[in-house]
Amino acid sequence: MVMAKTRRVPMRTCVACGATRPKRELVRVVRTPAGEVVVDTTGRTAGRGAYVCPQPECLERALGGHRLDRHLKRPVGEELRPALEAAVHAAREQPRTPRIFTVSAQGGAVSVRAQAEARRRGKGGRPQ
Ligand SMILES: [Zn+2]
Repeated sequence: MVMAKTRRVPMRTCVACGATRPKRELVRVVRTPAGEVVVDTTGRTAGRGAYVCPQPECLERALGGHRLDRHLKRPVGEELRPALEAAVHAAREQPRTPRIFTVSAQGGAVSVRAQAEARRRGKGGRPQ
């Protein structure tokens, strides 16, 4: 029985606890080239990324202590919390359904938009 056991798994480090895990088990926070910060469980969003374990303790630590700020080179604060929480929840409940979470704050109301991976929408249009 020769299985493809040694398939290489990309590893990433959680910014909160420092654990190294397979990339796809972590929640990725991305600063896009447009300067927006999104939470991406698809691993496909272009931009500068930081990784967090999908668990509340790491989420708290990542948000406090400005760890994400340092990694993303942009202030990331509580405004990202709803998106991170939604992503952590989704990563647990539906690990096979990657999504991109964005937060929009309008008039004091914060809403999280979860966008399923836009895989079927054709290949064009994504800038480098
Ligand atoms: Zn962690």
